[in-house]
Amino acid sequence: ADRNPPLHKLEEELRKTVKSPEQGDAVVYWMRMEDLRVNDNRALSRASELAVKNKIPLLALFVLSPQDYIAHDRSPRRIDFTLRNLRVIQKSLAELHIPLHVVSHSPRTTLPSKVLSILAEWNANHLFANIEYEVDELRRDVKICELARKEGKVQCTFVHDKCVITPGLVKTKEGRAYTVYSPFLRAWIPHLVDKPDPLACAPSPQPNAKSIHDHHVFGKLFESTVPEYVEGFKLESDDAQQMEICWKAGEDVASEMLNRFLHTKARSSQFGASDPLEDGAKMVEKNPGKESRIGKYKDARDRVDADTTSRLSPYLAAGIISARQCIRATVELPSSKNKVDVSRDTGVGRWVQEVAWRDFYTHVLANFPRVSMGRPFQEKFADVEWETNEEHLQAWKDGKTGVPIVDASMRQAKTMGWMHNRGRMIAAMYLTKDLMIDWRLGEKHFMEVLIDGDLASNNGGWQWSASTGVDPAPYFRIFNPYTQSQKVDPTGEYIRHFVPELEKLRGDELHHPSPKLAEKLGYPVPFVRHDEARERAIRRYKTPGSK
Ligand code: FAD
Repeated sequence: ADRNPPLHKLEEELRKTVKSPEQGDAVVYWMRMEDLRVNDNRALSRASELAVKNKIPLLALFVLSPQDYIAHDRSPRRIDFTLRNLRVIQKSLAELHIPLHVVSHSPRTTLPSKVLSILAEWNANHLFANIEYEVDELRRDVKICELARKEGKVQCTFVHDKCVITPGLVKTKEGRAYTVYSPFLRAWIPHLVDKPDPLACAPSPQPNAKSIHDHHVFGKLFESTVPEYVEGFKLESDDAQQMEICWKAGEDVASEMLNRFLHTKARSSQFGASDPLEDGAKMVEKNPGKESRIGKYKDARDRVDADTTSRLSPYLAAGIISARQCIRATVELPSSKNKVDVSRDTGVGRWVQEVAWRDFYTHVLANFPRVSMGRPFQEKFADVEWETNEEHLQAWKDGKTGVPIVDASMRQAKTMGWMHNRGRMIAAMYLTKDLMIDWRLGEKHFMEVLIDGDLASNNGGWQWSASTGVDPAPYFRIFNPYTQSQKVDPTGEYIRHFVPELEKLRGDELHHPSPKLAEKLGYPVPFVRHDEARERAIRRYKTPGSK
């Protein structure tokens, strides 16, 4: 692991935190961008327990921090999704007599003192939050602990919540962090539990409801409103509407999406109703077994033209549903026989293993923070020679490279704010190996356009595709986008849907139109030939620094 990563520093600080201060007038739960839910939420659960025990109000706080969103290339879609979910949560919390106070703060350097000043205003001496593993966020939390300790009044409790298995819990025999997925998975599996997490009970309705509502300060917090938008992150109204259709807000929606995946029949095409739930609801069956989406997941998860993945990533990235809840729900499937199925031979097992990738990349980020600071995990590739070509980069972003499967994937991202995993892999590999453009530019673009942008998974996916990461695709194993296209979109429906210029084409012509045909249809001709580009990439990776 990197020397002294900020997570270790935070854990050290938390051990030193002020103990048993006076109970104060309230307990505060600080909700973050990655835990937008009431259920199965460890920090909220701990905060609620303490508030009930001490018979004092529990207050929830959310701080919008535009400077952090700029620093992390957050997409306006993700910010809009956050606001929409906050509105739903505010209602759910109010039903439990917990007000959610939403404030906006800049500059981010003074955020620690801002939060402590809010606690001082409320005379609250206990602060609870779930840990965010990004470097800046960990440093911010260290700062809060230091300040709180200096002032000697506030006790900080920051807990691990994002992953199924806490970062740091699984280690190699030598006590190191894993950098290869398969052994990580083997070590991860024995920690899986099929029971509800005892540390994340649903918060109780707060006692003394009347006194909270009547309180001259706390009562007013119930009037706190979530802003329509964050300055600099306003969505165009068409886009806002489209996002609302594709990705509705709320914990109930996330549960429905999970149910749709586990219990409804897979469609052969992913292009029915634009609202996945509307479509899923029509197909609910008690036990569609192998015909369900998860039943088909093992064999069909790489098919971009089918609808066999869960589409839960926006909800998991924002913590609207927890990964623990997802794993637990699979245990109740008849095929799972009441235990977590991790077999490679079943749809359920394969899906649990995909959720494990999310844990893996988050553990990597926590242990090797340099990966998120623009450094390749494999330093030997730091000097690979990249092309600087604005025209090629822009064409890739716009889905106009002339390679149909790449363009369809990029246009899916543009339309839906989401992309199929295979589409992401093919588009990322094409940018980094065929166009030889720096993976960091692609990583940034995905964050800016996707609604599920998650720093750890996005960085992991990009460094995998660019062959610079932990357990990456070897640099000489370069996807041929045309053969990939035939494999992942055998019906061609995906390309035809997102690239209407090609809607009349079938078979090979669709996957790899000739320059003459492309020109006739008003579709671009590729900038590079794949075989030549492949040779160039291998040469440059073999000897970093060479042309
Ligand atoms: P499912 O197949 O149903 O999987 C269930 C869940 O498991 C996903 O929702 C996700 O949380 C997790 N998961 C599955 N595959 C992976 C994976 N390879 N890495 C990490 N987690 C995984 N995922 C994000 O959530 N946010 C990102 O910003 C992101 N960027 C990516 C960038 C690149 C270049 C690549 C190759 C992958 C990226 N992924 C990212 C991972 C993956 O593509 C998406 O999680 C997946 O496509 C989401 O669709 P789904 O919910 O239907 O997945």
